[in-house]
Amino acid sequence: MRWSQLFIPTLRDIPSEAEAASHQLLLRAGYIRQLAAGIYSYLFLAKRSLLKIERIIREEMDLIGAQEFHLPELHPAEVWQESGRWKMMGSDMFRLQDRWGRDLCLGMTEEEVMTTIARGELRSYKQLPQLWYQIQTKFRDEPRPKSGLMRVRRFTMKDSYSFDIDEKGLEASYRKHYNAYCRILSRSGLDYLSVEAHSGAMGGKKSHEFVLPSDAGEDVVVTCDACDYLANLEKAESTPQVIENDASTKANPLEEFETPGQKTIAEVAAFGGLPASSHIKSLAMVISEETESKAVLVLLRGDHQLSEAKLSVLVSSETVRPAHPEEIQKWFGAEVGYIGPVGISQVEIIADKALEGRSGLVAGANKNGWHLRNVTPERDFKAHFEDLREVVAGDGCPHCGQPLALKKCIEVGHIFQLGRKYSESMGLRVLDEDGKERAPVMGSYGIGLERILTGAIEQNHDEAGMMLPAAISPFEVVIVPVNFKNDDQREAAEMIYERCLKSGLDVLLDDRPERAGVKFKDAELIGIPYRVTIGKKVAEGLVELSDRSTRLSTDVTLEEAVVSIREKVQAAPLADF
Ligand code: ATP
Ligand code: MG
Repeated sequence: MRWSQLFIPTLRDIPSEAEAASHQLLLRAGYIRQLAAGIYSYLFLAKRSLLKIERIIREEMDLIGAQEFHLPELHPAEVWQESGRWKMMGSDMFRLQDRWGRDLCLGMTEEEVMTTIARGELRSYKQLPQLWYQIQTKFRDEPRPKSGLMRVRRFTMKDSYSFDIDEKGLEASYRKHYNAYCRILSRSGLDYLSVEAHSGAMGGKKSHEFVLPSDAGEDVVVTCDACDYLANLEKAESTPQVIENDASTKANPLEEFETPGQKTIAEVAAFGGLPASSHIKSLAMVISEETESKAVLVLLRGDHQLSEAKLSVLVSSETVRPAHPEEIQKWFGAEVGYIGPVGISQVEIIADKALEGRSGLVAGANKNGWHLRNVTPERDFKAHFEDLREVVAGDGCPHCGQPLALKKCIEVGHIFQLGRKYSESMGLRVLDEDGKERAPVMGSYGIGLERILTGAIEQNHDEAGMMLPAAISPFEVVIVPVNFKNDDQREAAEMIYERCLKSGLDVLLDDRPERAGVKFKDAELIGIPYRVTIGKKVAEGLVELSDRSTRLSTDVTLEEAVVSIREKVQAAPLADF
């Protein structure tokens, strides 16, 4: 295409509202414009890039035998009520009513709609497995839309769903998706990791997240360089830095001591002279289930933090919150800061494993202005010991003991083994080999198109602009005549342009009457991987071929130019899965 006829509104200045590099560059390079918070218009370049991402995804889905559907984005409330997620999705769901006052919502994900189709049609195990997918708009009223296209309220997801008669079948469908996701991300030119993850609101057991290491990410992955241990922070385990426990404190009797106005661990530690690691952090939490809520007292070593994700998996509830001050007063007879496990019988106590076997600890006395010393778990209170704490950098790897590191990542895809949650709650049954009714086992597999684009930019950019991998860049090559008014240069540019088109390259000809500097800057900003510059050397039959990411340039003959570009574009490596 010819640049002079295109709408590519590049900006010289960094837009003040944008913090993340991908957000700044998407605006500066004229890819997107904001319509409202978390809602963007995708202009020509973004659309081209997203179309390429979509094509890669579609090809890989089709390769594993998945079938593409096009489903409504507007869903009746009933199907979400049946699965129990109408309430559970809370304010993340965009809801509306039709003219008859009937409740509807905008689709956030499609388990309910896919299961509705399946239950109306699938009758026998002979029809299984089925793999169904769609690549469509999703709507989520995110509490904090941010970073341009990274977290938006309207985005494009490829989501697929598998239906199998048994767990073995599910395992096979899951494996196919796992491999397809590896191929999609590697074909898109991304540096990615796959990590075992927490299933969140989806239900089910096994799940993997596909993430892109990047400081702009919101996910944290725990890694061990020594042994390849890799886990999402929400699941990661570790051996805490060991505290030498003073065995002599074991026999010491419990003792109350006054701590007026000292509420936090840091305050009590400074006041009583013992380190935070010799304190018990007592957190009163409320777990909400369908109909009722219950309280639990969570105990951690004073210098550790609670992982709410681990707690919610442990108690099988998505809604876990800290108790309100009035609730704490009612259950413990004291204010926050003075509560503890000793003498508590009506509230369940769950303690982190780092407290197992310790003694001589300090905890709240359940009396305002007082704490207890010489607290010994097991002797002074009963608790279940579980892994509840959040890993911190430097903790020991659970496999090899070497120090762990935390890495920020962008989540791009998530695959889940759902099990029978939706088939059971929504009445999907097929006849098995023995003629008995069975609920099929399902899997659900999502990947975000905008996240692939933003992730690619975050991983590949410099001050001058984007450096998109050729497979997902809006164009593969840009042809820049230094002076388009010069007949020789213009003719050579036109000739290379025609040849590129003929050989199937996605080519852009910069035929604008601009200074060379402006054209170079724009080409670098929008991130086209290869550039052919046509300048004075054209008199000797030479043009310059440059690589956007390495910034290396070589002179090639007019004849060689197209062949060299083709080789480079096709050279993108693809591992075998
Ligand atoms: P996150 O933890 O980032 O909110 P999620 O766990 O809600 O993601 P899923 O429900 O598993 O995400 O959706 C599958 C994929 O859809 C994600 O891996 C991501 O690529 C994409 N996605 C989810 N929410 C958004 C959003 N608000 N904006 C852009 N892409 C999104
Ligand atoms: Mg989310």
